[in-house]
Amino acid sequence: MSCKVVLAQGISTSYREELKNTIKARNIRPKLVGFLANEDPAAAKYAEWTAKTCAETGVEFELRTCARNDLEDKIIEANQDAGVHGIMVYYPVFGDRQDQYLQQVVDVSKDVEGLHHKYIYNMYHNIRFLDAAKTKKCIIPCTPLGLVKVMEYVGVYNGILPHGNRLHGRVVTIINRSEIVGRPLAALLANDGAKVYSVDINGIQEFHRGVGLQLKKHEVTETTLKVEDVLPLSDVVITGVPSPTYKVPSNLIREGAVCINFSTFKNFDGDEIKKKAAIYVPAVGKVTVAMLERNLVRLYDYQLQDRESQPSSTA
Ligand code: NAD
Repeated sequence: MSCKVVLAQGISTSYREELKNTIKARNIRPKLVGFLANEDPAAAKYAEWTAKTCAETGVEFELRTCARNDLEDKIIEANQDAGVHGIMVYYPVFGDRQDQYLQQVVDVSKDVEGLHHKYIYNMYHNIRFLDAAKTKKCIIPCTPLGLVKVMEYVGVYNGILPHGNRLHGRVVTIINRSEIVGRPLAALLANDGAKVYSVDINGIQEFHRGVGLQLKKHEVTETTLKVEDVLPLSDVVITGVPSPTYKVPSNLIREGAVCINFSTFKNFDGDEIKKKAAIYVPAVGKVTVAMLERNLVRLYDYQLQDRESQPSSTA
């Protein structure tokens, strides 16, 4: 079988090495605070893992546990603390709209997860910078960003084309349209030039920038297509179905496709997919954590720039 299996570890290493070298060379110590306000063992495990990877790259990570009703005040405290450069919360906390409210309580300048409305709005509208001078790139949510980096790493992005158009001509199917991963990812890839079929349990939408990428940002159209129509057309198939029994039908995958799974469950039958795919990425979690740290260093720099541009007070 000629399929190349690409592991997240290998992809994340280059990013983490770069971060480690930057942090060491500049002698800085960016600080990330993670809030754990639920009893979810998976969140505790993720926090443990974040702490370990941060320690390896030179990022200071502090886990703060609290009762969920104290979380809002604790976030505000961290917002006001100049020694904290990034904040993340292990969701779900309340599991309803209150979680969306808490996402907006995190100060936009410390939002390493890119969940603030400003970042989300800019992402959907293909606004890539926070400032007119284009010195500050927008923060992108970690898992969708990690998946973009996976696609760059495996060569789906065409480096000959200009930034922002590097997926021109690519057809991508994403099986998941959650607000956390699937829909933002579909928008990011379509904004970069791909034609994206976004699949969820209710149907398939197409995200694209039109013929010749004439649109500045993607548009979305409803389709009557089915999975069996779009999989054979797709250069890339990305899946995130949170079910242990769901399997992407390997027989429908195009010969030589790139197949990427971000679900915690194995959505591809490993043996079968290797017979069809050119590249198979079975998991991406490690890349997500690398993106978290990358966003942190970016926010650290923006905070530094903001402080330096403020007029110094005279005694
Ligand atoms: P979610 O439940 O919010 O969304 C699931 C999506 O899959 C929905 O759009 C749903 O319509 C779609 N779906 C479910 N069954 C389907 C089916 N049979 N056919 C087509 N579409 C179907 O979940 P989520 O938050 O997006 O997480 C999905 C998975 O990704 C989970 O396993 C989660 O743990 C994992 N995840 C991984 C990372 C990472 O960094 N690796 C990050 C976030 C989530």
